[in-house]
Amino acid sequence: MFEGLTSNLKNALSGLARGGKLTEGNIRDGLREVRQALLEADVNYDIATSFIERVTEQAVGEKVLKAVRPDEQIVGIVHQELINLMGPVEPGFSFKPSGITVIMMCGLQGSGKTTTCGKLARLLKEQGREPMLVAADLQRPAAIEQLKVIAGQVDVPVHAESPEGTNAVKVCQNGLSQAKKLGNVDTVILDTAGRLHIDQELMQELEQVERKLQPDQVVFACDAMTGQDAVNSAKAFNEALELDGVILTKLDGDTRGGAALTVKEVTGVPIKYIGVGEALDRLEPFHPDRMAGRILG
Ligand code: GDP
Repeated sequence: MFEGLTSNLKNALSGLARGGKLTEGNIRDGLREVRQALLEADVNYDIATSFIERVTEQAVGEKVLKAVRPDEQIVGIVHQELINLMGPVEPGFSFKPSGITVIMMCGLQGSGKTTTCGKLARLLKEQGREPMLVAADLQRPAAIEQLKVIAGQVDVPVHAESPEGTNAVKVCQNGLSQAKKLGNVDTVILDTAGRLHIDQELMQELEQVERKLQPDQVVFACDAMTGQDAVNSAKAFNEALELDGVILTKLDGDTRGGAALTVKEVTGVPIKYIGVGEALDRLEPFHPDRMAGRILG
């Protein structure tokens, strides 16, 4: 995870430890390298710049300059500012005290949305809930079959219909009725349509599902591999749907870090979970402090 970012940050920060006493000039140079490392990790320019401004302001203060190990103090400041950038977050979702909680999962095609529905169902089941999946991604016929297979693997009920002659709202409504009929289901996860790019038709369909189903939580599956593009998609989805949470997918891959570092800052929406592998048990709660620790290595 984030190998390039971690090694660039280590280089930038270890430069500060060289040559004994630090001056304000050394610190500013070192932090310029930190900024470069963030930009290379696909962090948006304005965010990288204001991040470094905040760190610099604290790092060139008397307390740091007079410290026995000013370099360690600066690493500490960077660590804390990384936490502030990615947090705060309450991991997990809130559920209705009674009745069925509806979670609407959305995202672009290929982002890992369908897989994440399965991962979430598995995790909730492990926590003692009774989830059910609804196959409302009618755009990609394979998605319906995929969700059925995943539901079998995690052993939860699934509602699926043939995509002809129906629409996403109907499928979701039928799914909810089916969940009520089953009696014990307390959480319904809607796997909604994705497309390769955001377009008006997609957003209208999702807005209709949101209006008619009134989900308790709207969650965006955000492909960490696609960096700033993923963050921009999250922003567009949030403008249309008011997201409650983001699940960052594919963090196990060769991701540069930009999406993880900036999606909260850009959208104001917290990252709730991270996907760290293709298998259905590869979903972890997101902790900004742990992530900052991993990034700094
Ligand atoms: P959808 O089109 O958004 O529903 O995407 P899918 O759920 O079909 O996922 C697209 C691909 O990404 C599949 O090959 C998944 O196995 C893979 N994938 C999903 N989540 C993760 C993850 O956290 N890590 C890795 N490495 N692959 C993932």
